Amino acid sequence: MLERVPLLEKDLADYEGVAGADTVERIRALAEPLRGARILHVNATAYGGGVAELLATHVPLLRSLGIEAEWQVIHGSDEFFAVTKAVHNALQGADVPWNHDMQKVYLEKVLDNALLLEDSWDYVVVHDPQPAALLTFVGYSGVNRPGTHWIWRCHIDLTDARADIWEFFLPHVEQYDASVWTMPEFVPASLGTERVVVAPPCIDPLSVKNLDLHDPFVTEICKQYGIDTTRPIMCQVSRYDPWKDPVGVIEAFRIVRDEVPDAQLVLAGSMATDDPECFRVWEQVEEARGQDRDIHLLSNIQQVGNVQINAFQRAADVVVQKSLREGFGLTVAEGLWKGRPVIGGRAGGIELQIRDGLDGYLVDSVESCARRTIELLANPDRADEMGMAGKEHVRQNFLSTRELEDWVRLFGSLAG
Ligand code: UDP
Repeated sequence: MLERVPLLEKDLADYEGVAGADTVERIRALAEPLRGARILHVNATAYGGGVAELLATHVPLLRSLGIEAEWQVIHGSDEFFAVTKAVHNALQGADVPWNHDMQKVYLEKVLDNALLLEDSWDYVVVHDPQPAALLTFVGYSGVNRPGTHWIWRCHIDLTDARADIWEFFLPHVEQYDASVWTMPEFVPASLGTERVVVAPPCIDPLSVKNLDLHDPFVTEICKQYGIDTTRPIMCQVSRYDPWKDPVGVIEAFRIVRDEVPDAQLVLAGSMATDDPECFRVWEQVEEARGQDRDIHLLSNIQQVGNVQINAFQRAADVVVQKSLREGFGLTVAEGLWKGRPVIGGRAGGIELQIRDGLDGYLVDSVESCARRTIELLANPDRADEMGMAGKEHVRQNFLSTRELEDWVRLFGSLAG
């Protein structure tokens, strides 16, 4: 059996207060025919990154609708994850080597995982390229009975995908009954799955990461990490990944500090188990920081967990997500939900979330990131206004209940 991820319980009724009783009622009615259905989600990591974040809420909410939902993760190896990270980068437009040996490492490991799949499922949702070829091999494990609906959820922006690598994946993903995407622009024209659905990710307003926190608690947590909440704070929360441009954020911060000398930068990033690049990027970021005591470089290794991320985002005067490429960027919705303005790189799903000049700003360079930060630090009322507009935008479009409804509709339409 694949590794099963243990989950907390969640009750959809608790979301009435934030999403509205009508929404909850509508989802319940839509899900009624799915009662007792068996749904399996499969991805590559139980911790670190947006997909793990999403499934930790989505699967318990499916259960609260009377659905037998499970989340399992594939097992990999250093070699496998090095290949899948190269694939991830190439699908976002980077130049990486791609050869027969890499393809063999990939396919053999996915075959191993396919043989570990057990039980029978009404729906199997496979996330991202790492396990994408499961369906090709699953016939050998006996799991693929007639009537199982297979869905591929692609969280990546494929607009600039390397053609040869995408062509390698295409025959594997074309076998799925449906594919789900964050934005219509991400869907390659060559994809021939029967159903293509656009359903952007969402944040859980009741998770420890997004719950309301009292100011003294926020101050206390920040203090434990040497962050002074009486001074201006710029904050980016992200995996240590080149596409998140943490070094660019440090460069922007240095320009900001020339004009706002007491400013601090908080960079908090987790080390994901399926991401072999993070330690290398961490070292680059450490080097860029040098001896600068106003740059707080933090990770899960220093016990930075959900509550700390929540506190840092709340304490921030400006939240930054200066990505160069981004599937969605949950951290943007997280920052906006806390009533903070967000400055984001003009990339992928960030453009869905930040209405430029309304909830924050979209930027294309280190300089514009710095200029916009300086502007917001000088105008705290404007910053608060933008944060509040952003919070409402997230309430309308990017809460877990919206995503749950999209998925329940898709499951229902595949059954019918
Ligand atoms: N995250 C976290 N701790 C960290 C860094 C990131 O919990 O140190 C979370 C972050 O709050 C967000 C998710 O990981 O919920 C990152 O998702 P996003 O979509 O922004 O980026 P991805 O990592 O999927 O590319």
